[in-house]
Amino acid sequence: MLKKLRQDVERYVPDLWELNHYIYDNPELGYEEHLSSKAHIELLEKYGFAVERSPLGLDTAYIARFKGEKPGRTIAYLAEYDALPGIGHGCGHNLLGTTALGASLLLKEYVEEHGGEVVLYGTPAEETSGAKVAFAEQGSLEGVDVAICPHPADDYYSSGKSMVLVPISFTFTGKTAHAASDPHKGVNALDALLLTFNNINALREHILPDARIHGIVKEGGLAANVVPERAVGEFYVRSMSLDYMEELQEKVINCARAGALATGCSMEYEHYEAIYHNLVTNQTLSKHYDGILKEMGIEVQPPRESFGSLDMGNVSQVVPSINPYFGIADHRIAGHTVEFRDATLTELAKEGMITTIVAMVKTAIDMNEDDEFFQAVQEEFKNRER
Ligand SMILES: [Zn+2]
Ligand SMILES: [Zn+2]
Repeated sequence: MLKKLRQDVERYVPDLWELNHYIYDNPELGYEEHLSSKAHIELLEKYGFAVERSPLGLDTAYIARFKGEKPGRTIAYLAEYDALPGIGHGCGHNLLGTTALGASLLLKEYVEEHGGEVVLYGTPAEETSGAKVAFAEQGSLEGVDVAICPHPADDYYSSGKSMVLVPISFTFTGKTAHAASDPHKGVNALDALLLTFNNINALREHILPDARIHGIVKEGGLAANVVPERAVGEFYVRSMSLDYMEELQEKVINCARAGALATGCSMEYEHYEAIYHNLVTNQTLSKHYDGILKEMGIEVQPPRESFGSLDMGNVSQVVPSINPYFGIADHRIAGHTVEFRDATLTELAKEGMITTIVAMVKTAIDMNEDDEFFQAVQEEFKNRER
């Protein structure tokens, strides 16, 4: 069957490869992916998908569906197509989106004959304030049985973990004064922010070793001879679990409250981007998917040890999910680099795409046909840890 799927996918490869190149050539930042989402939608409609444009008011998102006449499971694939500032598709989302789309086209053939449903979510802005958060929180994933989002990498890695990410900005408001002649009349907002940094650095010794807090000064005054009346800091606070984040976030906010109190400023905080939840890999699903790759002669590496945060985390909290990595190179390349971007156009990348499409579709078919596997996935999901 794997051989047959591999042959079948070849029919789509010319279209898919053109799409991959087109998106590479037209990199667009989060929520500005107009050309990319349009190109995705055109290809999906060409192959008979019904496409909902701009769901949830998200301009560059889409939801493409194909439902068979016979009943069956609903399989979701997730496509990304946002780029990075300066280096274009340094995270390879051109290829990510193309691969997820290719899997949808191939699975549609099965669904037509055997039933079930395939849904492809076009999810903008993974690198900033990801749309998957809205999809997960506002019910768009209802009825979905499993979700798969395949990410390119320098090798094949099992789906692992990712960190909770809470983006907090602190805005301090003080009072201007001439910094030389009337400093005693000023209230220094920049000092409040600098104290916040110092407080957080003191806090750092007493947090879990796998938590992370990093920030920048976004606004820190306008001229050296004017006491700054406004200062803004932006921080990412990360942890491995939602439970610990509740505690950690409060401690970080207290650091800012203390800075405000010490200087006499007022302070307001907000979540300036979407909150990413931690990725909970469904191990039953993941092992099955990796097993299919092994059958195809692929050596799958254990999950990666370095963690970032993914909006796929939010999806994994509402639907059994995996976020596996597929290899597009024969040597180590870091993500978010020009080297990685250019690796998405190679023959190895094409091979990685094809192999991944086959594994994604075979997993979906097994989900539809093997009740024991389906039940085991759902059971694990019910008993998962946050
Ligand atoms: Zn990235
Ligand atoms: Zn990425």
